[in-house]
Amino acid sequence: MRNGAAPLLAILVLFASSTTAVAQPAGDLDPRIVALVASISQDRLGATLKKLESFETRNSLSSTDSPTRGIGAARQWILDEMKGFSPKLQVSFDTYQVPKQGRITRDVELRNVMAILPGRNPRRIYISGHYDTVARPGGQGASNASDGPRDPDAPTPPPADPTAPLDNLAPGVNDDGSGTALTIELARVFSQSGIDFDATLVFMCHVAEEQGLIGARLHAQKAVAEKIPIEAVLNNDIVGGDTGGNGIVDGATIRVYSEGPEDSPSRSLARFVQRWGARYVPSHRVRLMARPDRFGRGGDHSAYNQLGFTAVGFRESRENFTRQHDVRDTYAGISLNYLAQNARVNAAAAATLALAPPAPVVTGARGQPTISRAPTGYDANLRWVASPGAVAYRIFWREAWGPDWQREMLVGKVTNVVLPDMQIDDYVFGVAAVDALGHESFVSAYVTPPRANTPIRTSGQ
Ligand SMILES: [Zn+2]
Repeated sequence: MRNGAAPLLAILVLFASSTTAVAQPAGDLDPRIVALVASISQDRLGATLKKLESFETRNSLSSTDSPTRGIGAARQWILDEMKGFSPKLQVSFDTYQVPKQGRITRDVELRNVMAILPGRNPRRIYISGHYDTVARPGGQGASNASDGPRDPDAPTPPPADPTAPLDNLAPGVNDDGSGTALTIELARVFSQSGIDFDATLVFMCHVAEEQGLIGARLHAQKAVAEKIPIEAVLNNDIVGGDTGGNGIVDGATIRVYSEGPEDSPSRSLARFVQRWGARYVPSHRVRLMARPDRFGRGGDHSAYNQLGFTAVGFRESRENFTRQHDVRDTYAGISLNYLAQNARVNAAAAATLALAPPAPVVTGARGQPTISRAPTGYDANLRWVASPGAVAYRIFWREAWGPDWQREMLVGKVTNVVLPDMQIDDYVFGVAAVDALGHESFVSAYVTPPRANTPIRTSGQ
């Protein structure tokens, strides 16, 4: 073996030196994204969490008149903090007047805190968490341990005075200080990166998640009404703890939930997060969950899904329910190293997506997939519409039974590929656009739209 190694090395060196004159292909990693991911600061995440904890409660129905305690002080601090990062960042309150309804027990003004980093293109990629908190007697631990089908997010009995602020202690350091700190830290590193992104990035701290995803639903409603082009939402809710309440520790994986069906845009986004997370943060594994969220639990990504937007939810792998919706949700339950890894995965995915060309269009005018058996009647013939900025395309396929792409192939700057003798009925095919630096879009899959049912008429009845 030793003797054989030397000649092989010589051949490799020779090959390398003979190719130095020609253009080198871009690697899988963009050095600017590597630098951006590396600039995420564990210390800053920790300092933000301690600050958020210091407000004692960030309940959406808590006091707004104290400069140090309650939701009013918290939202003002988040706004000021993000304003300090870069003049490029457009930071504002996204404010709504909300009358009493559902779990909103009195008329209230609700404010998401939003930072926009404008790109060359209005298409938007969101990174989000919710900064509001809640604490109930017994917390989530008591809800989960009970036998019945009780809704864990069910409201507590209304307070004696519904107009009084809900100022009981609700530190919410993991739920969802963790997602909020991650969002704030990514606002900092993206706005200070010096990278000229194609997509517009939005760093969104939602309010009133605990009252029924209210802040996210209000913003998603506005996006529909104002035709705001939201391309993707990466929502982070409870992403800071690596130790389950049962003592099981997992600091090396993160769960990403996405709604179906199998080749929905949200599933495609989830696969994208896994693919690009694995390249830039290989030590952290993204576990994809083929369901919208955990049993009986909800998150802000679902508010976007419900209005037709593409969104996924990040959740820590091992939850400690006794620390959720409880006074025990404190800084002591956080693993900063784990939170930082989750922030890096978010950053890698969002930066890649924000630099990549738009995904190719693989449907015709009537919504049918542009796939056929031509020319022989037994081939896989894939067509797509060119994406602006793409210099190549990567096609993917897998057996029609199974969630993950099994094969991929880089093809040139073409809009049609024929794979002879590949039966299109036996595989799922997809295509992604790739730019000159190797940034890759979502994969657009060729899927048949569901058939509308036309009732059969009968006579003589
Ligand atoms: Zn939450």
